[in-house]
Amino acid sequence: MSTEYEKVIGLEVHAELSTKTKIFCSCSNEFGADPNTNVCPICMAMPGTLPVLNEKVVEYAVKAGLATNCEISRNSKNDRKNYFYPDTPKAYQISQFDKPLCEHGYIEIEDDEGNPKKIGITRIHIEEDAGKLNHNEFGAGSLVDLNRAGVPLIEIVSEPDLRSSGEVDRYLKKLKSILEYIEVSDCKMQEGSLRADVNVSVRKMGAKEFGTRTETKNMNSFRAITREIDYEAERQIEVLEAGGKIEQETLRWDDISGKTFSMRDKEDAQDYRYFPEPDLVAIRLSDEYIENIKKNLPEMPESRRERYKSEFKLSEKDARMLTSSKYLSNMFEAAEAICKNPKAVANWLLSDVSRILNEKELEPDSIPFTAGELARLVELIDKGTISSAIGKKVVEELFENPKDPEEIIKEKGWIQISDEGAIKEVVQKVLANNPQSIADYKAGKDRALGFLVGQAMKETKGKANPQMLNKMFLEELKN
Ligand code: ADP
Ligand code: MG
Ligand code: ZN
Repeated sequence: MSTEYEKVIGLEVHAELSTKTKIFCSCSNEFGADPNTNVCPICMAMPGTLPVLNEKVVEYAVKAGLATNCEISRNSKNDRKNYFYPDTPKAYQISQFDKPLCEHGYIEIEDDEGNPKKIGITRIHIEEDAGKLNHNEFGAGSLVDLNRAGVPLIEIVSEPDLRSSGEVDRYLKKLKSILEYIEVSDCKMQEGSLRADVNVSVRKMGAKEFGTRTETKNMNSFRAITREIDYEAERQIEVLEAGGKIEQETLRWDDISGKTFSMRDKEDAQDYRYFPEPDLVAIRLSDEYIENIKKNLPEMPESRRERYKSEFKLSEKDARMLTSSKYLSNMFEAAEAICKNPKAVANWLLSDVSRILNEKELEPDSIPFTAGELARLVELIDKGTISSAIGKKVVEELFENPKDPEEIIKEKGWIQISDEGAIKEVVQKVLANNPQSIADYKAGKDRALGFLVGQAMKETKGKANPQMLNKMFLEELKN
């Protein structure tokens, strides 16, 4: 990107709340049910039905507001946002317009130089999700599934404070981890529980005014968001450099071509004809109500990080990486509680397990094995049943076919040979086959010992206990 320009980015993040029921009816809020089974007259918008606000939705939104340093409104309300779309049977969405539940917060991230930087949270409001259209792949029309209609959402709107795709990536990861910690959303991006509208503009370095922004809707992968921002900023600079003007419009990202495409002109608030929702009462919150939620907020990533350093003597970096995901962090704690070897558990999670997750482009919550299975692996190494080299193969296997590591090593025949008689047999065989190495060793060439141990390892397919091999060779060579 031309160094003459800087990027300006603001995000509108939608998070589906993990309440048991929907926002205005008692239908189940479970993901993945058969189409149109989690529905009732209210969320199907039958005439004459009335919404009732789910109190848990307010509680979860207030939690999110407190965890992101927002002011909580004592006096808030719902509004109708009017637009027609086939997956929205009411032809309006109940949202919040001028009196959101939470305002004026911030999230702290690191900028590209590693310095702390606050990203402003303009507002957090509650609203209902729309249904889903399933487009028939043979062009025979579309079918609507209303299971998602009325699923509770919070929309977290950031200030245009972000200046690079790296900052955006860290902001989103931080936000995701906060929402996971306070347990208001499962944040499964692949299921659409967390998705972002990405607003991008560019301006000349040092300019006071922002440039015109474009908005790309419904992005649900970190990688796609990073690529989209870099592509879109470049595109805008090219337009400006050619003497053109940026249109304020809504875009769609195509992940295959790596390009943005125009969807429609940007709509304004006035296009939605917002008005106060007449079927719901105002939301009045007492100080005690808010205080009570504040008191019961769970341990957040920062304090967990400090605890890991003092309680488990982990490094700053390891503690930070483990606590960046509540799922990873919970797994660490559960496995540590069983095997009592925090360093080893942290190492497996941050090295091999994280590497495999990266390769598979998976989030920690997709780890297919349990904390108990990980603890078992650590115990098997600590007891000397397997070497850590075999441990690496066990981790690979745990991803493919998760089960008790003890069963895995039995099935695969990976148990370390620590039987004295068996080791002796191998050592004698290797010595008999390598008289030159014996002569070399006796002539003072210590390297010959390494060679012999290597041969014995080869002979046992890596399963011989290396300490025992070393000891036994030394004994035999003394004679
Ligand atoms: P709308 O719902 O019309 O998109 P909002 O005010 O809800 O409007 O959200 C606007 C989003 O766009 C915010 O996240 C804000 O930070 C961001 N934004 C506003 N102006 C710019 C700009 N010039 N460049 C980049 N992002 C911007
Ligand atoms: Mg928007
Ligand atoms: Zn319903």
